[in-house]
Amino acid sequence: MPTIAFLVFWSQVMSQFAKSDAKKNQFAKTQCPYCGVGCGLEVLPPAMPGKAVKRDAEGNPIWQARGDRAHPSSQGMVCVKGATIGDALDKNRLLYPMVRDSLNEPFRKVTWDEAYGLIVSRIQQAVETKGPDSVCMYGSGQFQTEDYYTAQKLMKGCLGTNNFDANSRLCMSSAVAGYIQSFGSDGPPPCYADLEETDCAFLIGTNTADCHPIVFNRLKKHLKKNKGKMIVVDPRRTKTAEAATLHLAIKPGTNVMLLNGIAHLLLKWGKVDQQYIESCTEGFSDFAKILSDYTPDVVAQECGISPQHLAAAARLWSKSKRVLSLWSMGINQSIEGTAAVRTIINLHLLTGNMGRPGAGPFSLTGQPNAMGGREAGGLAHILPGYRVVKNPEHRQAVEKVWKLPEGSISPVPGRAAWDMILGLEQGDVDVFWVAATNPAVSMPDIERTKKALRNSPFTICQDAYFPTETTEFAHVVLPAAQWGEKTGVMTNSERVVTLCKAFKRARGQARADWQIFAEVGRRLGYEAQFEATTSAQVYDEFVSLTEGRLCDMTGLSHERLGLGPLQWPLPQQETEATAATRFDKRLYTNGRFLTPSGRAKFSAFHAKGLAEPPDPDFPFVLTTGRLYGHWHTQTRTGHIDKITKMHPNAFLEIHPYDAQTLNFEDEQVVEVRSKRGFVKLPLKVTKNIRRGTVFVPMHWGFLWGNDAEANALTHSEVCPISLEPELKACAVQILPVRAGPLVVQDVEQSLVSRLARSLVSAISR
Ligand code: SF4
Repeated sequence: MPTIAFLVFWSQVMSQFAKSDAKKNQFAKTQCPYCGVGCGLEVLPPAMPGKAVKRDAEGNPIWQARGDRAHPSSQGMVCVKGATIGDALDKNRLLYPMVRDSLNEPFRKVTWDEAYGLIVSRIQQAVETKGPDSVCMYGSGQFQTEDYYTAQKLMKGCLGTNNFDANSRLCMSSAVAGYIQSFGSDGPPPCYADLEETDCAFLIGTNTADCHPIVFNRLKKHLKKNKGKMIVVDPRRTKTAEAATLHLAIKPGTNVMLLNGIAHLLLKWGKVDQQYIESCTEGFSDFAKILSDYTPDVVAQECGISPQHLAAAARLWSKSKRVLSLWSMGINQSIEGTAAVRTIINLHLLTGNMGRPGAGPFSLTGQPNAMGGREAGGLAHILPGYRVVKNPEHRQAVEKVWKLPEGSISPVPGRAAWDMILGLEQGDVDVFWVAATNPAVSMPDIERTKKALRNSPFTICQDAYFPTETTEFAHVVLPAAQWGEKTGVMTNSERVVTLCKAFKRARGQARADWQIFAEVGRRLGYEAQFEATTSAQVYDEFVSLTEGRLCDMTGLSHERLGLGPLQWPLPQQETEATAATRFDKRLYTNGRFLTPSGRAKFSAFHAKGLAEPPDPDFPFVLTTGRLYGHWHTQTRTGHIDKITKMHPNAFLEIHPYDAQTLNFEDEQVVEVRSKRGFVKLPLKVTKNIRRGTVFVPMHWGFLWGNDAEANALTHSEVCPISLEPELKACAVQILPVRAGPLVVQDVEQSLVSRLARSLVSAISR
């Protein structure tokens, strides 16, 4: 497993490399297309002067990528994913549109014209027979902002359905809901400069070292140098927890319990910021009332930690002047995800750790442009510019820019991700359009999901890659240009916006996602809405909708971003000011918020626990997560040798006590069952996980391993506010399987032997 030392070493090697050849070559500057850290990359053309072109086994040139030292977020650093991105650019690519009448048939190659014609007629048919809500689009944090924005106009404006949701729903919609409810608007208040200003980092539900490595690198370096403290809350002793001053290995499902327990102690000790509470917040008395239930003994018992450890965490909060909370899926993916986000925010309001350097509640986004999606209205309840569909003034403002009559946008939130699956299951969805994501792996309760996908009358799968698990369920596949083959914009977790310039020609007949949406829109009769011919024009229209909003980025354009990344808010009038080049912009620095009263809201949530707690039949709690090298469903990283060697197969992490009790040995293959399905995995016996909890990585779909899908086990219960599924926990039993080696599928053989065969036969016809 790479260490921080490795990352530092890597950045030093890369910087030497940069000095030696920077003058000789023109590098494309872009943002890494993997995680929400949003590192700057420089991509090198394969034909470097005086050097042979490096090629992969299939003869494709291998592009080189390295950290961009000028990028403010990553300062030249990259992790293994960013460093190896060049290895995956030409592998597994979808080159032509293809269609088939039923899932039992092979695909046949068609022209774009034929594919568009079919899609338009199926949409028109669905709208005429069942209404616009029978059409759904499921998009992705892999989109660039222009893709997101164009899809909103097509679905919410032209078709009049809010049935657009993105895989960000599975990732950070609880953070969105928490920010909106507490502060009156979405938008993470801190920035990465706070990583180097804090004296206490509170990391809860995030394995930052593996999942957001460059953020962790910056934080760890600062804390080490300045003797800062780090509290890590996680049932697993991850790489992140290993670096902590204090690790609280709580039971899964006890986040809210712990957070209320810390608040109870702070209040009892009088370690609160009375002035901040009185001047800048509301709802404190209701919050204080519920805290009386969260006495240290009760909380410690429920969380499975000692009262001393609980008190130590509260003491670190009380003694630190600047506390920065970081969280990701361990908080968000829960039936009480929004409650947990708001309870973290409560601690910041209680102690006045808001709007100051080194302090604030900071959600780390999973995907490279999940933030851009939020800005562009890319979830079923929101509209561009941090607006919501329920607000009539918000709808009117958007309709005006979209040149659509008043009333075109529905006031009713559309189907969220899991609701789309239910819509397919119940026969209410006639057209299901999936773009840049792979729900046949990433949705909860995957067998139920697959059954629903099989029930879909017409599924469009628009992706750069083929095959994926989801293309197996598609009637039409559309080749999308990869991020490096189109120019567009992405926003990272700290609101830094980067122009990602196209640096290579699109493979085959691939087209940018926004171009595909716009062409369908024009063919549906909306020529005036889709007049833009460049992504820069699309972006200009989008930023016009941010004017006067918290996320005001009217000072941004492709031209301006061509000079380098910028951080919002950046209104037009500040473009030329020094503010334009600052990367330490925090929100709510004046203690004023966007709620009707202008005050931040305390919330009063009691702990609910897990939707599916363990019981005598299913006595273990399964938790799921990412590994350092792999990205989501392996569509890219599964083709990179260095990464597949690092993480060759899925496994089940279990504590030695539990393994011994069940009479299992390390590496033994076991069967893990929940009420919905099963997996068969080799055991990894380790003290790095608490007793009674087991862990499975989330990256293995059915193309990458036999019976290794984490979501065969997970359930589909969602947070009632954010509608984010509880992908992080379910109850399981562990059983022996008959002896025999685990068959880890040979990746290439697997892919060729399955869906790729249909592509090969289609193309050769
Ligand atoms: S930390 Fe995230 S954004 Fe940075 S190189 Fe790694 S995967 Fe890419």
